[in-house]
Formats: sequence, C-alpha cells, structure tokens
Amino acid sequence: MSTARPDDEGRLISPELLDILRCPLNPSRARLLLENGRLRCERCALAFHIKDGFPILVVEEAELPAGCESLSQLPCQREEAERGSAAGHGPR
Ligand SMILES: [Zn+2]
Repeated sequence: MSTARPDDEGRLISPELLDILRCPLNPSRARLLLENGRLRCERCALAFHIKDGFPILVVEEAELPAGCESLSQLPCQREEAERGSAAGHGPR
C-alpha cells in the first residue's frame, strides 16, 4: 500500500518533457513550472494536474489561481483581449 504524494508525481516529469510543455491557453510563450506536484503556468498561473506521470493539460480540469473565477479572468486572456482592441492605431 503506497500513497503517492504530490511530490512523487512531479518527479516523474522529466526536465526534457517540462521543457517542451506549454500552457494550452497561450502555447507560443507560456512555460509550465513544476510546483508541488502540479504544473503551473508561469503566465496565467493555471495549475495542471499530473496523473501517473502524465501532465493533464486540459484547461477545464486545471485549477484556477486564487482570486480568479473564470478562464477569461486569467492575465494571459485579458492580455490577448487588450492587444486586440489596442491594435489599429494609424500613424499620428
Ligand atoms: Zn497560461
């Protein structure tokens, strides 16, 4: 009988794998950091679970950071929205 602690799950993730994993919300930029047996996005702070050594990169199953009630409130999502509205300024 072995109870897997969160730390054990994280140890199964190799640095190489960690290096190529990206947050599904903004895959081009955000990297994931191993933290307490979870993968936390360094930008939006979503925490993805690790199950049997496999990262579950499903946004719907990830834990929202404290103070965030929905995915649209995440910093990286708001950033995208702002960038969209800020574009289109002509010269002068
Ligand atoms: Zn993210």
